[in-house]
Amino acid sequence: MVLNSKADGRVFPVSDSSQTVIDCLLGLSEKYGVKTSLQEGVEQILKLEKGFEIKTSKQTIISKTVVLACGGNPKNESYNWLRDLAIDIEPPVPSLFTFNCQNHMFNDLMGLSCEARVSVEGSSVQETGPLLITHWGFSGPAVLKCSAKAARILHEKDYNFSIRINWLPELNQDEIREWLQKQQTSPSKRLAKHKLFDALPQRLWEGLLIRAGVDANKLWAEISRKQLNILAETLSADKWDIKGKTTFKEEFVTSGGIKLNQLDPSTCMIKSIPGLFAAGEIIDVDGITGGFNFQNAWSTGYACAHGALKML
Ligand SMILES: Cc1cc2nc3c(=O)[nH]c(=O)nc-3n(C[C@H](O)[C@H](O)[C@H](O)COP(=O)(O)OP(=O)(O)OC[C@H]3O[C@@H](n4cnc5c(N)ncnc54)[C@H](O)[C@@H]3O)c2cc1C
Repeated sequence: MVLNSKADGRVFPVSDSSQTVIDCLLGLSEKYGVKTSLQEGVEQILKLEKGFEIKTSKQTIISKTVVLACGGNPKNESYNWLRDLAIDIEPPVPSLFTFNCQNHMFNDLMGLSCEARVSVEGSSVQETGPLLITHWGFSGPAVLKCSAKAARILHEKDYNFSIRINWLPELNQDEIREWLQKQQTSPSKRLAKHKLFDALPQRLWEGLLIRAGVDANKLWAEISRKQLNILAETLSADKWDIKGKTTFKEEFVTSGGIKLNQLDPSTCMIKSIPGLFAAGEIIDVDGITGGFNFQNAWSTGYACAHGALKML
């Protein structure tokens, strides 16, 4: 597979197609004689005195080693078939989602993206990066990363929570207030509607003026101190109530799974059950976008393969 590295360190096949990765994996499986059984779910794994008995919907297989690589699932019941093995599982919750904000006043700004800092109220979670306004609320890397870092907290709140947005992440509220106050004493007669900050798109600036209740057609000198303070707060700590979540382009990752303290870190073998390994999203590892989940699957898969090989 011919690879292409991007400036930020991410690596893609030059074809830019996921089919190339699938073809690579299937090609290697064929080369090394890996036997694949499709449409055949594993229903139970029993520990024998030596090895394991794997019961599928069609057959029973005896094996010295087993690698659990069944991916993640945000439903607790989906791990029931592993209960017999008494593996400790961190309750799963969804991760990587966008924030819903019904009938939000920025509906007409849908598709607009800018650099912002998003903070989840009642937590220390905050992320700076591109923020995308959507017709259902907010998305973009800043939101997705917050959803990953606060996955468990937000699940506990049943996805009813508030965020604060700093639309000018380079500046704090005092600096913004000072800059606004300077406009009031400036000899040049500017209307509020002409944006003051290069980083903000004009349409967003006008939306933020409306949100702060500032008349866009007034001169800066005509705007009251109180309104100026409200605008400074809107620009630096704009509060939005979030109700619900949406999965980003159907992308879905699970936070939770087999607890890490049960695994041998060099082979990903479950320490209490020699011969049983776990790789990928079934482990309590979830990444913040950008291929980290795949990286976890590849790396732990590699560690398991070497660990299992040593035992055979
Ligand atoms: C739409 C989408 C887009 C994504 N995009 C990205 C991305 O851009 N970057 C990134 O890092 N991550 C991304 N992810 C997450 C990433 O795909 C997963 O983290 C990764 O595939 C996990 O690999 P895995 O092998 O552990 O599990 P999976 O890839 O989920 O594979 C598990 C397999 O096991 C099978 N299985 C489950 N239970 C059983 C059973 N009892 N018996 C038999 N078979 C079983 C499943 O059918 C599945 O085929 C995305 C996920 C989705 C859904």
